[in-house]
Amino acid sequence: MPVSELRAAMHQVADMVADYFENLEHYPVVPKIRPGDVRAALPPAPPNEPEPAERILADYRALIEPNTTHWNHPGFMGYFAVTGSGPGVLGEALAAALNNNAMLWRTGPASTELEELVCDWLRQMMGLPAEFKGHINDTASISSMLALTAARQRVRDFDVRRRGLAGRSELPRLRIYASEQAHSSIAKAAIVIGVGLDNLRKIPTDKEYRMQPAALAAAIREDRAAGMCPMAVVATVGTTSTTSIDPVPEIAAICRREGLWLHIDSAYAGVAAMCPELRALMPGLGEADSLVTNAHKWLFVPSDCSVLFVRDAEQLRETFSIVPHYLSTSEEATNLMDYGVQLGRRFRSLKMWMVLRAFGVSGLQERIRNHCRLARMFADWVRAEPGFELIAPVLFSTICFRAVPDLPPAQQDEFNARLLQTVNAAGPVLVSHTQLNERYAMRIAIGSLRTEERHLAAAWKLIRDTHREMLSSGYGRR
Ligand SMILES: *Cc1c(COP(=O)(O)O)cnc(C)c1O
Repeated sequence: MPVSELRAAMHQVADMVADYFENLEHYPVVPKIRPGDVRAALPPAPPNEPEPAERILADYRALIEPNTTHWNHPGFMGYFAVTGSGPGVLGEALAAALNNNAMLWRTGPASTELEELVCDWLRQMMGLPAEFKGHINDTASISSMLALTAARQRVRDFDVRRRGLAGRSELPRLRIYASEQAHSSIAKAAIVIGVGLDNLRKIPTDKEYRMQPAALAAAIREDRAAGMCPMAVVATVGTTSTTSIDPVPEIAAICRREGLWLHIDSAYAGVAAMCPELRALMPGLGEADSLVTNAHKWLFVPSDCSVLFVRDAEQLRETFSIVPHYLSTSEEATNLMDYGVQLGRRFRSLKMWMVLRAFGVSGLQERIRNHCRLARMFADWVRAEPGFELIAPVLFSTICFRAVPDLPPAQQDEFNARLLQTVNAAGPVLVSHTQLNERYAMRIAIGSLRTEERHLAAAWKLIRDTHREMLSSGYGRR
């Protein structure tokens, strides 16, 4: 593509992006299509001859944009939002143009130093200790896996990095502890690092879905007595179902006493520590050995951008660094390839830098506070509505609730599932669900930059209207 053509096409893309953000709300959040529909609309084989940019972009407009789920949509209230902001889009586009691969400082000086800088900005915003060093990965799942690999490397003199785990009958079983509300990525990390799912011990939670420290201490004691080797505890600050907060100070005290690595998974809520009143809800973040938070969730950086903080970055380097001859350098500088698995890495810090600058800390705080305010407002509506109940405390911007028709439990669950399905099929909102105490729950998570009070009011009206129609059609009767 000659530069003159690229210039014209990029101007066109600029208009397409702006049009998209302007008109986004007219799309249903989830496209009304079935699996296979997108493939069926596209040629099964690659084009043999070059195609002009206009035709490619026209097909993007007609076939791709409308057939995607719109995570940037103001009605996106499922899972945890990953909303891209304008400044983030600019950073992503420019990063693609530079196409930097910062494996070594020398192969990406600005990329390496900007990554260190923006991670330190975020560290300051969250009030984390000065010794914490941040490192950008694609996702929280990978960040947690890297942290737990470093934890594994630190266990006694096992030297798993060099000697592996298999075939070593002298080794005891390694154990990781996390609450029963922990994210599935912790289980996946246990699979990858050779600890195994059976050795991820799930610790019970209290009524508000927080890990019980006494149960943790008892589990560690029991495992030691059985000859096993406790290795790490994962505390979750902002669990995926209800955003509950494990009691980190008590857990950290146990980890210190037992010599265990403490990893904090705060993929969603961690960034909210930039607001002092929210930081007060999550004491002890600075006591972790490692902590992950996602800039692509509540920091409005387009996906993907996950920040892993470690208290002692040397531990990551000792775990992962392998320098083949062709990558050796003479500079005294950070080489990002030493702090994880991947060699090649793209310039993710650029978009984060642009977001932090364009919003400013106060602008980000304002957005996060507003989402929390909207969540409290929605929770008040649910509380005031006969036939509905809130089923978890609303700590940040997530609400778990359900309808309680006069039906036996299993049918109540079915009723709620049907209600959710009908609401989502309407188009303007996406609400997701979870399971709490083995019961079905609807879950609204506010995190899109574009969500305003009117969108929540529309969502709530849709839920109530659907609920009323289901009851009047006799669905809710025994
Ligand atoms: C979203 C989330 C994850 C997974 O994040 P990815 O970046 O998609 O891997 C893990 N833990 C918690 C608590 C989360 O909210």
